Amino acid sequence: MNHHGDRPLDPDPAESRNGSAERDSVAAILDILRKGEKFLVCSHSRPDGDAVGSMLATGMLLKQMGKRADLVAADRIPSIYRSLPGADTITTVMRVHGPYDAVILLECDGLERTRLRGLEPFFHINIDHHATGRTFGHVNWIDRHAASVGEMVHRLVNAAGATVTREMATCLYTTVLTDTGGFCYGATRASTFALAQELTEAGADPVRIAQEIYFSTATSKLLLLGAALSNLKREGRLAWLWVTHRDMVRTCAAEEDCEGIVNYAICISGVEAAVFLRELPEGHIRLSLRSKGRVNVSAIAARLGGGGHENASGVTLDGPIDRALEKILAELRGSVDEPTLAAKPAAKPGDAFAWENRELGTGLEISEE
Ligand code: 5GP
Ligand code: MN
Repeated sequence: MNHHGDRPLDPDPAESRNGSAERDSVAAILDILRKGEKFLVCSHSRPDGDAVGSMLATGMLLKQMGKRADLVAADRIPSIYRSLPGADTITTVMRVHGPYDAVILLECDGLERTRLRGLEPFFHINIDHHATGRTFGHVNWIDRHAASVGEMVHRLVNAAGATVTREMATCLYTTVLTDTGGFCYGATRASTFALAQELTEAGADPVRIAQEIYFSTATSKLLLLGAALSNLKREGRLAWLWVTHRDMVRTCAAEEDCEGIVNYAICISGVEAAVFLRELPEGHIRLSLRSKGRVNVSAIAARLGGGGHENASGVTLDGPIDRALEKILAELRGSVDEPTLAAKPAAKPGDAFAWENRELGTGLEISEE
């Protein structure tokens, strides 16, 4: 909890951080929810833990308010999130059909990010926490400090005077856990743990949720990871890996199996920015960017047409892989500092120590398969 000298403790640290603009946004959203009857709740395509968890919690809030809600996504829900309460109520659709009093878009920087068709005619409520968030909606609430959009939904639930049920707590805890990378990423602060505690007290089971997410990995994902790791390259403070569409087919991998592979490049000691590239069936290349330290990968992704957070972003580029790679490396090379390689040890080639200290620009040719 925040301490404010002689002022009483603020029951909501996030609210004290964001102030009256947030109160106005929340009040405007609640006003629309109270006046309406039927809502559409959606998030971005290829939904992640925050997308799924915050959609489900928003659906539960609306239900408590006596409203009807359709929960839709353009892609199927990844298997690790399918045990979340109510996950089977999210339908996979390409086009939405009204009438709806409003569409609630969670974690999107525009209608396109949903990959849903037919959203245009409706009233849009935009709730987002991305650094690249845009005020595209009729009502916009963007808090780039929130650890997850689920954290914002939790504030909405409290402001509505609704109850955080065990089911809702489970969904919201999942948003916080996954979007902070297990309480590791930059948005993790004291209030994140306070929220996790509150949600645990409301019935979320941290161990079970972690089991579902981190210890329920599909075999295909490990096989795909093997393919990606065999394509791992390192250049000073940059590292990257990739999989071809053929790798995806060969390992029977689903799209969701790609999630988290980039972490095996950013976790390397001394690496400050990392990229995972995946060839899509139709030839485009999907990139996941990560950084630790000062590189702002959301700005880089945004320049190329994507977006995200400072330390985690994504973008889709034209193929083939080596062309997309050159494009992203050109951006990233300018962002990472020149490595200090003053004292280069005379080590055997292939030696792990030599690898960590190898000169910028050596051994970098992409081997075509
Ligand atoms: P991931 O690499 O896990 O797919 O995405 C990392 C972060 O960047 C997520 O917060 C995701 O929402 C955001 N992101 C990924 N791809 C895009 C994109 O094409 N456009 C925008 N605006 N955000 C993206
Ligand atoms: Mn998120």
